[in-house]
Amino acid sequence: MATEYTNPLPRPLSPELTRPFWEAAKRHELRMPRCTTCDHVFFYPRSECPRCLSTNLEWVKVSGRARLHSFNVVQQPALDEGPRLVSNIVQGDIDALRVDMPLEAVFDDVTPEWTLVKFKPA
Ligand SMILES: [Zn+2]
Repeated sequence: MATEYTNPLPRPLSPELTRPFWEAAKRHELRMPRCTTCDHVFFYPRSECPRCLSTNLEWVKVSGRARLHSFNVVQQPALDEGPRLVSNIVQGDIDALRVDMPLEAVFDDVTPEWTLVKFKPA
């Protein structure tokens, strides 16, 4: 899927910290940081674990399966692995959106360099 955008897209503020996320999205994979000290999977990417402050982190592939946490102007699906991710819901009827409904990650190749992670009803 690819969306036509007429305005310039925002770019990551910390490209080195988020590079594994964007490289995985380009391969149509969803990856998130995992703390190897306490096993916590989290999002957004940070240089230390938000639970135990360890800097022993690795990037892991997550399922992309999620449940809709809330919706309004901003929509925040929580992944099966726990993290919440601000994204867009596509390919669904907005009137059918319900909190905790199952979702699935889809990848929008917006430019040759950038792929955005979005969600659709599962
Ligand atoms: Zn930790």
